[in-house]
Amino acid sequence: MADQRGLSGLLRRIDGSGYGAYKQLRGRWRFPDFTLHVDHVQGDPFAAPSRLRVQVPGEVAGFPRDLFRTRARRIALEDFLIRALAREIPEVAKGKRGSGRSGEFSVVDFGQCILPRTALRISLEGVEAIISCGLPAAGRRVLGREAEAMLLGELPELVRRALLYRNLDPGAVRRHVECGEDAEALREQLAEHGLVAFVAEGAILPRASGVSDRPLRRGAVPFTPPESLTVTLERPNAGPIRGMGIPAGITLIVGGGYHGKSTLLSALAQGVYNHIPGDGREYVVTRKEAVVIRAEDGRFVCGVDISPFISNLPNGTDTKSFSTQNASGSTSQAANIMEALEAGAAVLLVDEDTSATNFMIRDERMQALVAKEKEPITPFLDKVRLLYRDYGVSTVLVMGGSGDYFEVTDTVIMMDAYRPLDVTGRAKEIVRKYPLKRRPEGGEGFGAFRARRPVLASIQPRTRKGKLKVQGSRLSLRLGNYSIDLTRLSQFAEVPQVRAVGYLLAWLAEHGQDLKTDGTVRELLLALERRVEEEGLEALLPARYGDLAVPRRFEVAAALNRLRTLRLRNP
Ligand code: ADP
Ligand code: MG
Repeated sequence: MADQRGLSGLLRRIDGSGYGAYKQLRGRWRFPDFTLHVDHVQGDPFAAPSRLRVQVPGEVAGFPRDLFRTRARRIALEDFLIRALAREIPEVAKGKRGSGRSGEFSVVDFGQCILPRTALRISLEGVEAIISCGLPAAGRRVLGREAEAMLLGELPELVRRALLYRNLDPGAVRRHVECGEDAEALREQLAEHGLVAFVAEGAILPRASGVSDRPLRRGAVPFTPPESLTVTLERPNAGPIRGMGIPAGITLIVGGGYHGKSTLLSALAQGVYNHIPGDGREYVVTRKEAVVIRAEDGRFVCGVDISPFISNLPNGTDTKSFSTQNASGSTSQAANIMEALEAGAAVLLVDEDTSATNFMIRDERMQALVAKEKEPITPFLDKVRLLYRDYGVSTVLVMGGSGDYFEVTDTVIMMDAYRPLDVTGRAKEIVRKYPLKRRPEGGEGFGAFRARRPVLASIQPRTRKGKLKVQGSRLSLRLGNYSIDLTRLSQFAEVPQVRAVGYLLAWLAEHGQDLKTDGTVRELLLALERRVEEEGLEALLPARYGDLAVPRRFEVAAALNRLRTLRLRNP
């Protein structure tokens, strides 16, 4: 393996050459503190930057074993180090050094969550980090001296500052690691306490703005659990913590407009992930299998059994295998629920703000006017209990607009000027005082539903020329020649998860057969999730990409279900 002097010599030799000369950098270079792998060299200074991988041996990096002895700790430590790299880049690097992206260093984008990511791995062997680098050029001519300053000056300094334990703030590292582990432990205690979610006392739920996931700094009212719903859970590091436990079953969140209902529900939706210290939602945890359900008119639906909610459509459409290029509000919401159940949801999170009214309720007067035989929809109101009874699936529902739900709920939480009150007793009293003449329409049970078997080849991740294409943004995932609309999915924590979903779908298309499942969507998703847990996301990628984060299987399912090329073996 050549050393840094060799690299320096090469960079001087190719100074002034055409950009293609940078290809000679590919391979391994030995530095005093680490090994540099140049895995990918960009084609020109405007293209996606080159991919560097640095390996710092364990004894040089010097992280105490204790900081990564469990999976939760390791993931949090890795998250900390990625953030340290991102913070040091502008401190250490000069920045622009020529045309296009010349001079740029970058690491993966991240938000408020602690997630398993491909950008950084720590083990007993050491730390391995993937860093992007815009190799400098003037036009298409190599700027060798600039590259030398980057790779031999800035890069080693970056590694020293961000990846060597002795240069980090040990208190901050420990807080981050313990916070991640504590959140994970809280989530694991939910089931034994009969809870689906926990919101810690003092948590800050509101966000800075509609487009920022950072905490609201001014005027945020800290969370105060109502006495009757207060539970104390254990944190392995920070000790016991009090908070509001949301019990399994049906929970209603009521209250006046602008009193914080949706904010609470959004915090629960994000509670499937761990958050960084200072986020305000560090100790807001929800069962991992909680899925946000909303109406999504216009979406594509492929052969979903929505018959528990919808039957006898006027055009005679079969709702045991419902397909459409353009779902209505109610059919899309029904499909979203059935797909979530197929993927193994344990908790549904529903907000009236984003629901179809005719899917949610059908009141006494409407029953009198429109006969049951004339209404294809069985409202969620009449199925929500049966769903819990028959399948053990809980629902947390924001509903300020209809008291009909009091009938079917276990717990009613009222948000009053951002403070939760337990009004279950009052709601039940109202049920007794004002009995409804409304007839339940849900039937004997929730109803059985049909498993789907996808044609794996109908996931088409390659372009017509055969090139694998995955591009993700907040709004869409591009796979091969097709785009999947993600605008109304709210449980992607960050864009790197979107890209990862693209690669996982591509992997399913090409290797899904090897998973040895019965071929149902459910088994495929579970087997894929197991694969990622056991072997790491890296093992399922075509190359060592550093810009991906592990998604949940529900988001993989959501993308698959919206892929307009999807076909079934059992339509
Ligand atoms: P609702 O769904 O009840 O109509 P929202 O949850 O949308 O209300 O909240 C209304 C506004 O109040 C939002 O701007 C939100 O950021 C803010 N908000 C929510 N919770 C809090 C809180 N605990 N402290 C301060 N502001 C809050
Ligand atoms: Mg709302």
